[in-house]
Amino acid sequence: AARTRFAPSPTGYLHLGSLRTALFNYLLAKRTGGQFLLRLEDTDQKRTIPGAEERLYEDLQWAGLEWDEGPNVGGQYGPYRQSERTAIYRAHADSLISTGHAYRCFCSAERLDTLARHRNEAGLPLGYDRKCADIRPDEAEERAAGGETHVVRLKTDGYPMFRDLVYGKTGQNRTGGKKPVDFIDRVYEDPILLKSDGHPTYHLANVVDDHEMKITHVIRGTEWMASTPMHVALYNAFNWTPPEFAHVPLLVDKNGQKLSKRNADIDISHFRDSGIMAPVLLNFAALLGWSHTSRSDVLSLKDMEEMFNLKITKGNTVVAFEKMWFLQKAHAQRIAAANGLELEELEDKSEAAAKTLVAGTEASQTPLRGVVRLLLQADAKSYTTPEEFINRNKTFFIAPSNRPVYKPAANDSTTVPISALHTAAAALSLVPDGHWTIENHRFNIKSYNTVPPGTETNNIVDGESTAKLIAQDKAFKKELYHYLRWALSASAPGPGIPETLTILGRAESVRRLEEARR
Ligand code: GLU
Repeated sequence: AARTRFAPSPTGYLHLGSLRTALFNYLLAKRTGGQFLLRLEDTDQKRTIPGAEERLYEDLQWAGLEWDEGPNVGGQYGPYRQSERTAIYRAHADSLISTGHAYRCFCSAERLDTLARHRNEAGLPLGYDRKCADIRPDEAEERAAGGETHVVRLKTDGYPMFRDLVYGKTGQNRTGGKKPVDFIDRVYEDPILLKSDGHPTYHLANVVDDHEMKITHVIRGTEWMASTPMHVALYNAFNWTPPEFAHVPLLVDKNGQKLSKRNADIDISHFRDSGIMAPVLLNFAALLGWSHTSRSDVLSLKDMEEMFNLKITKGNTVVAFEKMWFLQKAHAQRIAAANGLELEELEDKSEAAAKTLVAGTEASQTPLRGVVRLLLQADAKSYTTPEEFINRNKTFFIAPSNRPVYKPAANDSTTVPISALHTAAAALSLVPDGHWTIENHRFNIKSYNTVPPGTETNNIVDGESTAKLIAQDKAFKKELYHYLRWALSASAPGPGIPETLTILGRAESVRRLEEARR
């Protein structure tokens, strides 16, 4: 069972890339029966945005990614907010000092500046010359106890390679300090673990927490890959086994430009506000780099929980936003077919949109909810947003007196057989209640199309069927669908005729056919 974590810093809002990171961590935990943790990496208080923490919770909850342990739910390995763990980091820095893996560095900012300038001028890599490593431990302790400003540095002669689950063997096996001559040549990485204000650097906090929280897999963006060798060096210094690492590729737009956090278009709330459903966004995010083996790209969170693996492609991932609306329609169909809780939510939103639509009009008598439900069953494949969906199907909601006058298509040279529509109205008014179904309408219309006009048919479900009667009008035959649609729904695109008849109901259908005027 994997223990994974999503470790955002409250320096911005959740965006497409971070949602994907959270999702992959979540999925691996669920797939393996493990736990998914939320940890707030808020050590850099200067960069913290007020309200970002609450927004993170909100956005993750909206997406449906519940965490098993975290700042507001607690857990065995808390606290889960790094600003509340300072003492833990200090204790760990002390333990590295006592084992000789770290040391206190009292160098002034000026000295470090001079060092950097000299190295820069000499065209040498930056680093530290390890001057303070030579201070005797008891002297260093005394100076620290006396309140002298200092940092704690890791003493490392290089960073090891590591095996990334996505990228394979990575790292440079850099070693420093080959030529300990003077401060120009003597260069060590010796990264800072504890800052002069006593707060940990990101690296120390991240490694200590992943270990203390028993994280088994670290899935994060490739921007952290360069730091991982240092993290592994830190694990080694502690004599801890590092977790597995899986770095997921950068998201880029079609021009190869990095999708940036500052780009409001990728903020999760932007998608939510434009009507994208949470499962759609999750599905979309999952496809950004994960090579699943399902035959369909349309995957619910449950589907993904059951089949997730770390087969993630390397290299930049191009985000093609058009796919999102394809997925939206596909999920609407999945949700309509599954007929569960998700459908109720979709109905709620569509019903609200329908209410807005009919507000102030002389709405037809049919209860909105029922019509919405039938519409979603009949036409989910064209669902984009509740507003668009309802507007596209507005003919089902607006009372006949408020409808525009129907006009046949401009290129239509035939005369609309109004009398045939009236005949159809008469036929339909006789269809018994129990037979007013999509199946029967379908059957009747199909029969109509296969039977020569005027023929008595006996293969029709309803004795007094649509087909039988309207089939008597020759001119009408070829254009049946066309004219019925014209009369019933002002030729709006949408559900088929059998569905339209069923949703409108008998009285309303008959009325619309009877009222058809040239
Ligand atoms: N706090 C880091 C971030 O904001 C987390 C890096 C990691 O997952 O280790 O991305």
